Amino acid sequence: MRIIVIGAGPTGLFLAATLALREHRVTVVDRDPGPTPDGVWRRRGVMQFHHAHLFRPQCAETLQTHLPDAYQAWLEAGAEPIQLTRSDGTRTMFAVRSRRQTFETALRATVLGMPAVTFHRGHVDAVTTVGGRAAGVKVASSPIGADLVIDASGRAGRVADGLRPAPSVGGNCGIAYVDRQYQLWPDAEPGPLLNPAAWQGEFDGYQSILFLHERGIFSVLLVRPTSGRDLVGLRHNEASTRPAALSRSSPRGRIRSAPDPSPMCFPAELSTTTTVPRPAQTAASPCQG
Ligand SMILES: Cc1cc2nc3c(=O)[nH]c(=O)nc-3n(C[C@H](O)[C@H](O)[C@H](O)COP(=O)(O)OP(=O)(O)OC[C@H]3O[C@@H](n4cnc5c(N)ncnc54)[C@H](O)[C@@H]3O)c2cc1C
Repeated sequence: MRIIVIGAGPTGLFLAATLALREHRVTVVDRDPGPTPDGVWRRRGVMQFHHAHLFRPQCAETLQTHLPDAYQAWLEAGAEPIQLTRSDGTRTMFAVRSRRQTFETALRATVLGMPAVTFHRGHVDAVTTVGGRAAGVKVASSPIGADLVIDASGRAGRVADGLRPAPSVGGNCGIAYVDRQYQLWPDAEPGPLLNPAAWQGEFDGYQSILFLHERGIFSVLLVRPTSGRDLVGLRHNEASTRPAALSRSSPRGRIRSAPDPSPMCFPAELSTTTTVPRPAQTAASPCQG
């Protein structure tokens, strides 16, 4: 079967690979060009891309079972599976410490390297139909035909809106956060944690969460209620670079800015249906502290 997958995010890539393994010919269409050769990946269409991610064990187990090469590539890129020992001495995976960029770069390289998977860069403007059935897509006015079209265009995807009912659940959950990445100096310990992946603290009017990723890289989240306006200014670059400046003068000198200059200064509003407009970035690169 000729299959088009709209979207080369984790869902689209995983589907493309597993369909290709079942001898289908798959074309993945995505407007995002992927990472540059030096590893920088802006990923403007996926607002949460540079926000903190933690990977549940199912993610690792699914890759190990169906795409072991992608799992291996992820480990080689630095992913850190966290194993816990149960009271009976058996081991279980708790989570995987990794930035999403590290995960998706490994998955993408593996899947787009498969002979039965073709990558087509472009924005899908519409799904074409014949007799009420999907028959392909239009990319920049050019049609591409297919026997099956799969919409994996994510929470911001709009291309199939007219083909399905609107979501029945969703709305603002009342919290928003900004986050930013740092990296421990090579010999520094991360400090006290509540579990092998995170630390969390409650403060007057906000919450702070620290997520460990791979190779000593970690994210710090500042979470606020959307009803309060006091910390809204944190979304601006000038305000959110302050913690980095403080970290350099930290007496214990444990942290530095993360290695690649990811744009970290936009807010995540935790809502299942709304997309938060990203404020204009200032010229300074936030991760250069
Ligand atoms: C703030 C936040 C924090 C999160 N934290 C975690 C976490 O800690 N752990 C976790 O496992 N998950 C987390 N998630 C969820 C995770 O990010 C999503 O489940 C994941 O992104 C879904 O992947 P996807 O491939 O379905 O969609 P996406 O990642 O959104 O990918 C969709 C792709 O489709 C492309 N696309 C869209 N429309 C078109 C079009 N018309 N033409 C061409 N291409 C198009 C986009 O460019 C993109 O590449 C978080 C989500 C949010 C919002």
